[in-house]
Amino acid sequence: MTTLSHVLWLGGGCGAGKTTLATRLAYRFDLRLYRVDSFAYNHEARHDPNRHPLTHRLSRKTHMQRNVDPPAERLAEQFIAVAAERFELIVADLMARADGPLVLAEGPGLFPEQVAPLAESRAHMLWLLPTPAFGDRNVAARGGVQVADDAAAAHRKRAERDVLLTAVIEREADRLGVPTFNVDGSLDLAQTENWLAEHYAPAILAGPRIRDGAQRAAMRRAENAELQAQVTAHLEWLGGKAPAVAAPVRYACECRTLGCGATVSMSPMDYPAAGAVLAPHE
Ligand SMILES: [Zn+2]
Repeated sequence: MTTLSHVLWLGGGCGAGKTTLATRLAYRFDLRLYRVDSFAYNHEARHDPNRHPLTHRLSRKTHMQRNVDPPAERLAEQFIAVAAERFELIVADLMARADGPLVLAEGPGLFPEQVAPLAESRAHMLWLLPTPAFGDRNVAARGGVQVADDAAAAHRKRAERDVLLTAVIEREADRLGVPTFNVDGSLDLAQTENWLAEHYAPAILAGPRIRDGAQRAAMRRAENAELQAQVTAHLEWLGGKAPAVAAPVRYACECRTLGCGATVSMSPMDYPAAGAVLAPHE
């Protein structure tokens, strides 16, 4: 099987801080960022009913039927099965980015069994294993499960599901002998980021990284557009249940300074007309 030598993989349980850490590392080291969660609606739109039967079946269910009503064990199984179906779409996206700088791919649906055969080396992959308390605290801070009639029950079930998913990742990782990192809150964000930076260092040093300011601006602009497409599709999906004022989205600064880690929060409604997103340092 072909390996995706230009991809660094960051998987792990929900609420481990993957997105935050991947974003900080990508900006700091000038890597292309691929957030699997930014492609949820994109992948659903691209699904083929024959190749992705579960994705197809779920696409016709309501949010409650799909994400809230089933027991936690079923939600976990469903998540794993959908992730397995989606993986070939993720690989296709990553292949399409093979000619550029290293890509840091991040998401909860990246399981060791699928990723390990494609990863170039141990320094190209890592799974974060949050303790239940740490994961739940982070997920709750995001606003938890939306659009459920009984938000507290939905949140509890989601937390149960997340613990099961982390256990599956841990078992797969143990069996395959791939690297993991326990996230329990004993290190702060900057310390955790530095640990990850050291882990990935051999892969990052081998490169290639974003080569100049023009390429950086183009990459961050493309990532912002990917994020925007996801947010817009989600607001459409919410329809009448969408909040009157859309929650602000944190976009990457699109300046030409390598290593820039700045972000700009704005309403997704304002993004289309905003032109280049530039943090105040510009
Ligand atoms: Zn900047």
